[in-house]
Amino acid sequence: MRLVTIGECSGAPLPGGATSCHLMEDGDGRVLLDIGSGALSMLGRYCSFDLIQAIFISHFHADHSADAGAAIYSRLISQDLGRGVGPLRFYALEDRGLSMEGRSTFTPIDEGAVINEQGFTLSFMRTRHPVPCLAMKVQKGGKTIVYTADSGLDERLAAFARGADILLAECSFPPGMGKGALAGHMGVDEVALLANEARPGTLVLTHLPIYGGRQAILEHVCQAYDGEVMLAQPLLEVEA
Ligand SMILES: [Zn+2]
Repeated sequence: MRLVTIGECSGAPLPGGATSCHLMEDGDGRVLLDIGSGALSMLGRYCSFDLIQAIFISHFHADHSADAGAAIYSRLISQDLGRGVGPLRFYALEDRGLSMEGRSTFTPIDEGAVINEQGFTLSFMRTRHPVPCLAMKVQKGGKTIVYTADSGLDERLAAFARGADILLAECSFPPGMGKGALAGHMGVDEVALLANEARPGTLVLTHLPIYGGRQAILEHVCQAYDGEVMLAQPLLEVEA
């Protein structure tokens, strides 16, 4: 199973970039976790959007869901051009404009649900965030990728992430801006604590600030955690 980080920006995309969007790929199977602003544009540099059949949305903050409408229109255009693509399948806590007849379907998900999608098995955990939000676990072929989505640190998140081959963890704040847990996010100290509890094969930091400080984030986390750590960047590919 391959992780491709399509968008790693928190809040708003950097020029030529995207906010939260992550592709899980295995053979012909592909699912997207979140579809933030700029995601469709950036994804198009990796593969045709026609190849995407399913999108899981963690929560309805714009930096995780803003391109859902563009995704539906992309599908509509491809269908009208006769490209033979079926409806897009959205999974989220609620249907907020995600379903459009013939173009896209909506399936509700929540903590406790288990979804099988193209051979991937997905399960979910409600996170600490100002709006309802789901962390996601993707499993296939004996490999596991856990995505924290947006979350403050707590013991449940550490348990959910334990032993993942790849832990894709949000790190919203550089060193010195350590109010992460209060705001329903993690900063460098929280994400290092999470990694030390979860001990993933590879820790990939995402939901990164767009005002600088990314290298300081990497250095700080590497000082506090001795495992493999990477910063997400557009079209970074990591094998689980
Ligand atoms: Zn959020």
